[in-house]
Amino acid sequence: MEKNSAFQNALRQLASVKDKTGLDDNIYEQLKKPKRFIEVSVPVRMDNGNVRVFTGYRSQFNDARGPYKGGIRFHPNVSEDEVKALSMWMTWKTAVVDIPLGGGKGGVIVNPKELSAGELERLSRGYIRAIAPFIGERIDIPAPDVYTDPRIMAWMLDEYEQIVGHKAPGTITGKPLSIGGSRARGYSTAQGGFYVLEEIVKKMRLGKNSEISIQGFGNAGANMAEILYKNGYKITAVSDSKGGVSNSDGLDIKKLEEHKKQSGSVLGFSGGKDMGSDILETETDVLILAALENAVTADNADKVKAKLILELANGPVTPDGDGILDKKNTVIVPDILANAGGVGVSYLEQVQNAYMYYWSEEEVLAKLKEMMTKAFHDVWQAKEENKTTMRQGAYILAISRVAQAMEDRG
Ligand code: GLU
Repeated sequence: MEKNSAFQNALRQLASVKDKTGLDDNIYEQLKKPKRFIEVSVPVRMDNGNVRVFTGYRSQFNDARGPYKGGIRFHPNVSEDEVKALSMWMTWKTAVVDIPLGGGKGGVIVNPKELSAGELERLSRGYIRAIAPFIGERIDIPAPDVYTDPRIMAWMLDEYEQIVGHKAPGTITGKPLSIGGSRARGYSTAQGGFYVLEEIVKKMRLGKNSEISIQGFGNAGANMAEILYKNGYKITAVSDSKGGVSNSDGLDIKKLEEHKKQSGSVLGFSGGKDMGSDILETETDVLILAALENAVTADNADKVKAKLILELANGPVTPDGDGILDKKNTVIVPDILANAGGVGVSYLEQVQNAYMYYWSEEEVLAKLKEMMTKAFHDVWQAKEENKTTMRQGAYILAISRVAQAMEDRG
């Protein structure tokens, strides 16, 4: 077995709530595997004239509640195992926020930072051509994920529409506004996490003076930092893939963002000092995990000092790490709730595409807030009723909803 295999971890999480959920054996067996898993080879003409063949995947995990839904990741560490895990987590995520969608995920093994804009466009179009027979607004709807963005979604949608010969904006979400994107989608993962954080902070009676640390300064982490900063919270440490910076009086996030834009990293920021140690081990009240999976494992969980962890990334705490944190009474707001704002606004984007009628930013945010606050209270109730953790509460809630749809379909 792979060390910290994300899919094995996802299966362990599922197994851990099987009895509490009262899950029928026949349904459980079906929930252990994607319904369909597609591997594709994507030949791309590179700028030097040579052809490079990239490997891509699309995992369609479960569509009992609605079409498969989930992002496409461009990253060197993408693997069959990772894509499967992420597609299972998407299935639970859409169920937690109770939107009529299932779960899927895609990925390409590539470091997009090494490609020119032209190469990236040809790869994006090539990948969509390869999976086009299997997607569609009523079948499977891709979106952005790690290292993919609205520009890439635009190329993908354009390619898809050329293949089918008509406009079909609801086939891909996270698009630019000009071709049917939704307002607020760009920062909705962070915004949804913020709404959830505001609820848990009330429950735990943590004030605005609490120290907050953020691992990851990409779409989720940087937007979260900005939203927290605007709302008067104190962020004392931030890290990206190159290292971290801290300031016990609070970091000026606007200036930090400018610094990162110019230098490519948070390191060397004049408004703080570079951290010698891992951000996960820093003294802090709240730790926001906004990087990749397997950040907190059996190897480092005992060194985590935060009272509260918010999982803005997918799968950042492994089941072994989870066990250790539970014993220390660390409260964890699980990924399938904390980062569901991304897919939440993707769903709102699809609704707008279907009606060809577009909402203001305020309208989208009001709908997102209602969705996330309700999901938080549903999870809290499931946790209380089952006398368990928030993660298990979220899993019980989500899996029961998916199982219900499977049973109703017969
Ligand atoms: N990639 C995001 C996630 O992991 C968003 C998915 C979507 O909008 O479909 O939740």
